[in-house]
Amino acid sequence: MNCKLCGRSLDEPDDPLSTDCGGDCWGCIGEIEAELEALPSMSPETASPPDPAMNAKAGGDGRAG
Ligand SMILES: [Zn+2]
Repeated sequence: MNCKLCGRSLDEPDDPLSTDCGGDCWGCIGEIEAELEALPSMSPETASPPDPAMNAKAGGDGRAG
């Protein structure tokens, strides 16, 4: 059995990337999965820079003098 994508011999004990993943080697499947995770699905509108006005000091002025 060889990988359908790159033709690598599957289930080779000396090659950790040759794991049989449904007919494809892990070397190819791993790259595909990495690309899927790196898809530009992030929208810049959801990300906002930190607001300096949020720097509110928390203190108590209840000292009896
Ligand atoms: Zn492959």
